Amino acid sequence: MNEQTAYAKTITGIYNKVYQGKNIGKIPTYIPELLNVSPDKFGIAIHTLSGKTFGIGDYQEKFSIQSIAKVLSLSMAYDIFGDSIWERVSVEPSGTSFNSLLQLEANNGIPRNPLINAGAIVICDILLSHFKNAEEEFIKFVRQLANDPTINYSEEIAASEKEVGYRNFALCYYIKSLGNIENEPERVLDFYFKLCSIELTCESLAYIFTFLANDGITLHGQQRILPHVYTKRINAIMQTCGFYDESGEFAFRVGLPGKSGVGGGIVAIMPGHYAIAVWSPRLNEKGNSYRGVKFLEGFTMQTQISVF
Ligand code: GLU
Repeated sequence: MNEQTAYAKTITGIYNKVYQGKNIGKIPTYIPELLNVSPDKFGIAIHTLSGKTFGIGDYQEKFSIQSIAKVLSLSMAYDIFGDSIWERVSVEPSGTSFNSLLQLEANNGIPRNPLINAGAIVICDILLSHFKNAEEEFIKFVRQLANDPTINYSEEIAASEKEVGYRNFALCYYIKSLGNIENEPERVLDFYFKLCSIELTCESLAYIFTFLANDGITLHGQQRILPHVYTKRINAIMQTCGFYDESGEFAFRVGLPGKSGVGGGIVAIMPGHYAIAVWSPRLNEKGNSYRGVKFLEGFTMQTQISVF
């Protein structure tokens, strides 16, 4: 059986099993616009480095990628500023929720990692200080990775989050008071909410992340986006910090670097092999897609391929 057929068969089998099982968990209510999505959506797409693709279920429907975008803004900032970004944000798992204020005071306004809200907000600030129009440059970067000029922010989702984003306002003002935000907090948050509002299908999300599975190089045009060592480090951060306060459990059960978002998406990569994206909006208590985690656990168990 060739690679494509083998993955298609495995994915279809696990998809059906997970689909027939329970779908528990909640859709987050704190971003009003996310409530317009049916909780039973379920899609999966894989892209292998040899160019094979397969998708099932709602894999061609767009959803809000939310925090998954933080890996891309981090990649962009890391490439431009190199290791100096680690003076502004650390690389330790936080062990607290994604929007926690707790550790900031003790850590002098240096967020624990770039994938929690505080860290992603600092990365936005870094990009804003560098570019005249950071929003424009960032969406161009995502389009380049996706090889798709139509990708865009969702103004509705960004506005919806801004209206009630008190927690993120608190984080940004607090970090500013501790001296780790250069720009006006309102401006930084506008960019942050936009970043989180990007909508993608599982198909394009998986494709975008193939560069991280491929040593920092895109599949189309073999363009190097990140040096080898930066790619290794971003994958390490996804592995240790990509799943909120469930990153250890995800490593234990699935064993792949990845990132989840409150829109119900998860993207994971197997270096040298593939990138895979799953979307199912109901979230477990830790904020990760209930079916997404179940599916990926079944997938790495059955394929017997993971980083561990
Ligand atoms: N925009 C969301 C927030 O800041 C992202 C959360 C997430 O996906 O983890 O709350």
